[in-house]
Amino acid sequence: MPPLQKVNLGFFPTPLHPLKRIVKNLPYELWIKRDDQTGLATGGNKCRKLEYLLAEALAQGADTVLTAGAQQSNHCRQTAAACAALGLECHLMLGGVPPAVETGNLKLSRLLGAHIHFTGQNRKGEALPALYRRLQDAGKRCYVIPYGGSNALGACGFVEAMAELKEQTAQLALSFDYIFFASSSGGTQAGMMVGSALYRLPARLMPVRIDKEPVEGAALQKKVNDLVAALAPLWGIQADNIPPCPLLTDYDAAGYAVLTPQEQRLMEEVARTEGILLDPVYTARAFYAMYDHMKKKQLPEGSRVLFWHTGGIPALWAY
Ligand SMILES: *Cc1c(COP(=O)(O)O)cnc(C)c1O
Repeated sequence: MPPLQKVNLGFFPTPLHPLKRIVKNLPYELWIKRDDQTGLATGGNKCRKLEYLLAEALAQGADTVLTAGAQQSNHCRQTAAACAALGLECHLMLGGVPPAVETGNLKLSRLLGAHIHFTGQNRKGEALPALYRRLQDAGKRCYVIPYGGSNALGACGFVEAMAELKEQTAQLALSFDYIFFASSSGGTQAGMMVGSALYRLPARLMPVRIDKEPVEGAALQKKVNDLVAALAPLWGIQADNIPPCPLLTDYDAAGYAVLTPQEQRLMEEVARTEGILLDPVYTARAFYAMYDHMKKKQLPEGSRVLFWHTGGIPALWAY
C-alpha cells in the first residue's frame, strides 16, 4: 500500500543473487542485492528515493530541481539523470572548488546537463536556501531535495524496497539473518527499518556508518530516529513499534570519502573473485565492515547474510 504517488525512473526489482567464492572459507552464506543496477545513468540507491521525490516535484508544477552533495555525489548524479528524463532543470550545489579536471560523478552530472555551483566547505546543502531564493526571484518554480534525498518522502523508496525483497525471498523460499549496508544521510536506513517492521522481515539490519560528520547539524543516529518518526505514520504504523537499529560506527575513523588500504584490498579481492565492483566511498566500507564481522566470527555460524549494494560505481574514476 504505497501511500503516495511516484514516477518510474529505474529497473525494479533489482537482482538478488548469491556470492559464493568470497566466503568460500567462511561459515556463512552470502547474497547480494544489486541496487548498483537500478539504471539511472549507472544506477544506485538514490533512484528509489527520487521516484517519490520527483513525483511530488511534478505534482507541485515545479520546473527546476535543486539539491546538494559532495563533488562525487551519487545522489546528485542520479538527480541530474532523473531531471533530464523528466524535462526538469537541475541545479547541484557541490562542495569544494572547481577541480582542474572533472571526473566520475561530477563529469556525469555535467554531461547530464545539470547546472553546477561549487560551495567550498559546505557539501550538505547549507547554501540551498539562498540559491532557492535567487532562482525563485528569476521566475523558476523550484523544488528542493535535501542532502541525499533523505526526508520521509524519499525514504518511502526503501520501505517499498523491503516489500520487493520480501517477494524475492518468498520466491526463493529463504530468509536472511543479517542485512549489511552503507548508511550516510539516513534515508536508506530509515526506510529499511520501517519496511522491515511493516513487512515482517526477520533480518537484523546492520547499517554501517560511512561519515562521522553530522547531517543537517545532528548525529546520524538522531537523523535516522527523526526520519523513522516521520515516516512510520505515512505507512500507517507507529514509530514506537519499530525496533531500534544501532549504527556500526567502528569503520569510519578515516573520514568520509577516504579509502583505507584495507578497504582497497578487499575491493580488489571482491572484484577479482566475484567480478563485482564496489565503490570507494560507501560500498567498499560497508563490505569491509561485513567481512570483518565474518572473519572475526561475530555472527553465528551458518548465518545467511545479505549485502545490499547501494551503487556508487562512477566514483571509481575519481580515485
Ligand atoms: C547515498 C549512498 C549511500 C547511503 O544512503 P543514505 O540513504 O544516504 O544513507 C550508500 N551508498 C551509496 C553508493 C550512496 O550513494
